[in-house]
Amino acid sequence: MGLLVVGSVALDSVQTPFSKVDEALGGSATYISLSASYFTGPIHVVGVVGEDFPKSYIQLLEDHHIDLNGLQVIEGGKTFRWAGKYHYDLNTRDTLFTELNVFENFNPVIPDHLRKSRYVCLGNIDPVLQLRVLDQLDNPKFIICDTMNYWIEGKKEELFKVLKRVNVLIINDSEARLLAHEPNLIKAAKMIRDLGVETLIIKKGEHGALLFSEETIFSAPAYPMETIVDPTGAGDTFAGGFSGYIYKTQDTSIENIKRAVIYGSTMASFCVESFSTKGLENLSYLRVQDRYRDFLSISHVDEKG
Ligand code: AMP
Repeated sequence: MGLLVVGSVALDSVQTPFSKVDEALGGSATYISLSASYFTGPIHVVGVVGEDFPKSYIQLLEDHHIDLNGLQVIEGGKTFRWAGKYHYDLNTRDTLFTELNVFENFNPVIPDHLRKSRYVCLGNIDPVLQLRVLDQLDNPKFIICDTMNYWIEGKKEELFKVLKRVNVLIINDSEARLLAHEPNLIKAAKMIRDLGVETLIIKKGEHGALLFSEETIFSAPAYPMETIVDPTGAGDTFAGGFSGYIYKTQDTSIENIKRAVIYGSTMASFCVESFSTKGLENLSYLRVQDRYRDFLSISHVDEKG
């Protein structure tokens, strides 16, 4: 059946203190599916673009065996655009603009043969659309969901409805604080889980990630990166690596979810090494495995005696 991915497909303009890029390939579904493609197939994307979406980007996704039958191309429409500017630490950013364009009237339609999808990654899009997707699914087993400050601030009630229906929520630390209205992350995590989220993952940028579930709190290490070029899409790439690994192994036990967190972080570390999706375009499963092992070794301690 494959992994179903729903999210934005975008043209991103990004500025860092050191460089910039205009109208590059971006979007939550794009990063998620490219990242997941190193673990598993088929990956089915449901999303929308305008007629202006470059054919070379379609080709790039297809070259990674990503099925785009569920990607609507709106005649005469303009693709979703987002622009962001990073501060000197490359950890924080300001959104310069968000142009929803074809997303404004987007109605996600899950093709009939994908409605029985068991594993679903709901990328960062309007929670109203995430709910419409959930309504079309017939007995999903494991739903992974991402969101961002834009929707936490603008569509909180709808987001709360989504949270009751997903298995895993992946957000970053500032989004967790915003969602819970609570500065302490441990307290915030408890409050968010009380909203109905079974498993919560809070990414802390270059400081690793925390996993909260009924039975455990797990802290995943951060990879010491010397080169960070563009953090855009790191969160979505994390979600893609996480989902791809879970789908590949078909194992939703807590121990395997911990491994998936490390795989998510592994993929995010490749993403930030280049602008846009460049860091995800020419990887191999072997390189992914090598870095996964590096991740594990960073926090491994031999027991004395
Ligand atoms: P991240 O850096 O992981 O938060 O993801 C950045 C990606 O999210 C960019 O490629 C954007 O195109 C996309 N994005 C930004 N704002 C939105 C939004 N409001 N809805 C959907 N996707 C968005």
